[in-house]
Amino acid sequence: MRPEGTKAIDGRPWAPDEAADALRAHGCRATRPRVAVLSALLEHGGTISAAELTALAQEIEPGLHEATVYRTVNVLTEVGIASHVHAGHGPSLVRLAGDERLVAVCENCRAIVPVPIGAVSDLVDGMARQTGFALEPGHFALEGVCAECAP
Ligand SMILES: [Zn+2]
Ligand SMILES: [Zn+2]
Repeated sequence: MRPEGTKAIDGRPWAPDEAADALRAHGCRATRPRVAVLSALLEHGGTISAAELTALAQEIEPGLHEATVYRTVNVLTEVGIASHVHAGHGPSLVRLAGDERLVAVCENCRAIVPVPIGAVSDLVDGMARQTGFALEPGHFALEGVCAECAP
């Protein structure tokens, strides 16, 4: 199941079997671990922790080691297929390159919650107006407590 709005690097909708083509198009050998990790990332379509990505990739390629997934994410990032979001003091989150959507991470359960851009547009506009600073949120996750964990 592909989430709506997930686009390939060239703007077409993703299909999992395109992972190998995407790897080759970026000058990467399409090894089984790479295809599994990229397919899992494409299937998920959003921002994901490396641990969760490992679990998804293992459904495609059983026995895949977590260390291999981390190395593969680094390769995918180097060639411009994947990118990262910093989340607090923990390990970076992973997503497709070009995905600028803002996310919030729950400090309690580590849930990753998408943030509608409208929720921060007043902050972005206010910063620009009052200080001239062009705020570019997205590379860092916002922090707080999710609806499930809120007291
Ligand atoms: Zn960074
Ligand atoms: Zn939570």
